[in-house]
Amino acid sequence: VFSHIVRAPEDPILGVTVAYNKDTSPVKLNLGVGAYRTEEGKPLVLNVVRQAEQLLVNDRSRIKEYLPITGLADFNKLSAKLILGADSPAIQENRVTTVQCLSGTGSLRVGGEFLAQHYHQRTIYIPQPTWGNHTKIFALAGLSVKSYRYYDPATRGLHFQGLLEDLGSAPSGAIVLLHACAHNPTGVDPTKDQWEQIRRLMRSKGLLPFFDSAYQGFASGSLDTDAQSVRMFVADGGEVLVAQSYAKNMGLYGERVGALSIVCRNADVTSRVESQLKLVIRPMYSNPPIHGASIVATILKDRNLYHEWTLELKAMADRIIRMRQQLFDALRAKGTPGDWSHIIKQIGMFTFTGLNKEQVAFMTKEYHIYMTSDGRISMAGLSSRTVPHLTDAIHAAVTR
Ligand code: PMP
Repeated sequence: VFSHIVRAPEDPILGVTVAYNKDTSPVKLNLGVGAYRTEEGKPLVLNVVRQAEQLLVNDRSRIKEYLPITGLADFNKLSAKLILGADSPAIQENRVTTVQCLSGTGSLRVGGEFLAQHYHQRTIYIPQPTWGNHTKIFALAGLSVKSYRYYDPATRGLHFQGLLEDLGSAPSGAIVLLHACAHNPTGVDPTKDQWEQIRRLMRSKGLLPFFDSAYQGFASGSLDTDAQSVRMFVADGGEVLVAQSYAKNMGLYGERVGALSIVCRNADVTSRVESQLKLVIRPMYSNPPIHGASIVATILKDRNLYHEWTLELKAMADRIIRMRQQLFDALRAKGTPGDWSHIIKQIGMFTFTGLNKEQVAFMTKEYHIYMTSDGRISMAGLSSRTVPHLTDAIHAAVTR
């Protein structure tokens, strides 16, 4: 009965690692996947995560029974505080419902499903380009997916005019997906002034903001700075959705810990929204896993662990920023044609190099460097040791 099934293509991002793993060259370099690596090229488990896990193991009162449909209550409260700010009026006024979901992806999906079932306008605008999974997540949730201009290849910066025009002509009430910080794949974020203009335009048209926050703390090294865009929208009292992921900022990738928060107009609406979120979640996975959320809650509620976390997070962000500078300096020193200043202007885990498909294929074939075909490289996969190899490859690709 299954013999008619055709082979599906590899996921464009995860497929890069599959190809990398097959390569036997000693100089191979994986800049495809968005996971942090140390200067030695190794995955990192944060020290605070190890400590939190130890505390959890030692606590004999901990049990393994099901969490509620909405997840671990402490985790949800602390997650809302982390993204909205400890003194957020929306939290104090009980206008926020937060549900623990399966990392960023699951939070986006639950939000998408909720909107498709309960929101009057089923169109969502996503930036062009965006993280590849966005289109599929929202389409399969039942929303109609459209895009708005975001990136301008000519300036390798924000296409602000195009963005304002496209959101300006979106139908009233449409949902708009916004990257809270460190836009993936471009590394290009609006300035604070531009965010304010986007906010005003969206509110004047009744467009509903849905933030994807996958890199809080990773872009600037400061948790508060990286949450600024979300907080600007929450501060005006209007509705906001936000999907949080702890994959990057706590290095909990495989634990699948995230949260969806929905900020509403008043406490009564909020509790009704939460009751419907439960109906969305129950037939999908019943209730979320306990371990990862317990790690996050343990860290967020302990002053010392929290402080230590911010230092470890800053160290990761700083290493990425150093890699940007080193790559930029190396290309300059080599005299590689082109203006490479976007490497140091862009922020977050990725640089959108501007290299085209053919150049990427050339670098993979000749230099064993793996990245997505759109020319996106993960700065976290780079180290002082591998910068020269990448520089040689880019130089060869653009002077071919
Ligand atoms: N959104 C964006 C923009 C991302 O880059 C990612 C991870 N690459 C995610 C969401 C979701 O990741 P996860 O499900 O692992 O939290």
